[in-house]
Amino acid sequence: MNEVPVVRAADSTAAQRRVAGALADRGIGRGDRLVVSATASPELLAVVLGALRTGVVPVVLDPALPAAERAELVADADPALDVGDDPGQLLGDTEADLAPFPLARPMHYTSGTTGRRKGVWSGVLADDDARALATEEINLWGFGPDDRHLVLSPLHHSAPLRFAAHTLLAGGEVLLPGPFDAARAARTITDQAPTTTFCVPTHLQRLLREDVDWSSFRLLAHAGAPCPEPVKRAVVAALPDGAVHEFYGSTEAQFTVCTTEDWLARPGSVGRARPGRTLSTDERGQLWCAVPRWARFEYWRAPEKTAAAWDGDWVTVGDLGRVDDDGTVWLDGRREDLVISGGVNVYPAEVEAVLDAHPGVVESAVFGVPDDDWGQRVVAAYVGTATPDELAAWARERLGPAKRPKSTRRLDELPRTSTGKVRRLDLPGVLGL
Ligand code: ATP
Repeated sequence: MNEVPVVRAADSTAAQRRVAGALADRGIGRGDRLVVSATASPELLAVVLGALRTGVVPVVLDPALPAAERAELVADADPALDVGDDPGQLLGDTEADLAPFPLARPMHYTSGTTGRRKGVWSGVLADDDARALATEEINLWGFGPDDRHLVLSPLHHSAPLRFAAHTLLAGGEVLLPGPFDAARAARTITDQAPTTTFCVPTHLQRLLREDVDWSSFRLLAHAGAPCPEPVKRAVVAALPDGAVHEFYGSTEAQFTVCTTEDWLARPGSVGRARPGRTLSTDERGQLWCAVPRWARFEYWRAPEKTAAAWDGDWVTVGDLGRVDDDGTVWLDGRREDLVISGGVNVYPAEVEAVLDAHPGVVESAVFGVPDDDWGQRVVAAYVGTATPDELAAWARERLGPAKRPKSTRRLDELPRTSTGKVRRLDLPGVLGL
């Protein structure tokens, strides 16, 4: 049997009281930042929840950040305390009371897929907003005392931390098998019978190659990047009926939920607005979401970025897409990735879908490079057995002149972030363009 740390709600609450005591002893209170950069552990969860339930804002940093980058983010976060990789130092002898719900949201830095990392800050919540936020999350996913939540993604990302924290707040258990390793994750699933998990499509791709008994799951939620259709179909077939859910969200906010049924009816969509939200697009195809008061956020110490993201109750994180008459949301990619070629808006996702349909292509990534003639010209990188000439001929038959890649280049793998997103920004460099 495989030894995997299990965090029980009652034990965690006791530890959180000790964290609350240690923070109070140090005079750290509402709105103060507390930096921690440790791998997932019972102590890390206790520190995050103990801080949140006293209104202190945990800033959970990737423990693998290079020292210079970490120092930059710590200087930016301006914390009252930095416990580094040792959250245990806050589990002292004094105990203090905890609010029933988090009084703040953690501050996370975005992954920086489209440029510099941004700190996402929600400040301290009024008590009724705190209750509404926690209740919304717990009700949406139906977390309860019978849940055993499996953590597959690092807790410095917002979604994995939210899933683990709300499972504990709802009285459930959390399993921490450590940094993702497909064989170990497969064994943990089979031996420990988790009921819920959150992951990114790359995890699913890797888990599908392992021998896994998926029968214990009532909920597998994935998000963060587009999930290739064959992967999605295989996961839906492997798990109990209706267990697979996708959502579209970002570090900043949560936008949609897509049930298995929604997805099978409209493959490739990301579902409909999460309860309490409304989604709409502007004339440029940029998605905007009206969010409830407790889900508002700012970019930390960047008022101009905050002002650009908000329009009244509506917010955008720069994704392009469309909303059907029945409210189904389809993503076209990031505003920053849009290629304007010969005056035509080219959505990389549309061109990639055509290329990916070639039987000799595993995956592709499309981006623009400056061009005297076209303004920007479309370039495609791909992984697969098709030759560049075959793929160019395939694209010629299916895409108009502006959308057609002007050059197709084969790679062994696409450059990705730790969360499995393709780093389009890196592609021109990788291809020497
Ligand atoms: P930065 O904003 O710094 O560039 P990032 O985009 O990697 O970093 P995240 O918050 O980690 O920041 O990622 C959120 C983005 O991931 C969304 O804005 C969207 O583009 C993409 N995304 C999220 N869920 C899905 C999904 N289900 N399908 C496709 N793309 C998704």
